[in-house]
Amino acid sequence: MNEFSKLKSLSSLKNQRKEEEKAFEQLKNVHPHLSHLRDSDILQFFGLKKREEIVGYKVLIQETPSSFDKNKGEGICLCNDSKGHGKFLYGTYDEAKEKNIALQQEQQIKLKVYACPTTNGWHLSKS
Ligand SMILES: [Zn+2]
Repeated sequence: MNEFSKLKSLSSLKNQRKEEEKAFEQLKNVHPHLSHLRDSDILQFFGLKKREEIVGYKVLIQETPSSFDKNKGEGICLCNDSKGHGKFLYGTYDEAKEKNIALQQEQQIKLKVYACPTTNGWHLSKS
């Protein structure tokens, strides 16, 4: 690798990092309940494995119409499950987690708690 391409890849890496930082900031704005979490926890909540993926995830949120705010706190959002039915929205992470534990005990299903990409709520999902 020559000096020029080394520099070039360095600056694109820097840009990538900047994009990621911005994405985290925006996600925290949309999901205030995430703002106290570490970046790695946030990735986990959104079901992402790599930091890079947060940039694509942010795009998803940006395309979301602002009318979603109206749904806040009403227990609904526009997320659908694999059958096209609306997903149940939990108001808090703990609520979703408790339901998850209950389901696990009653029906032997273990689900994953993740943040709804469009509201301040949480969903359960088969991982
Ligand atoms: Zn949702």
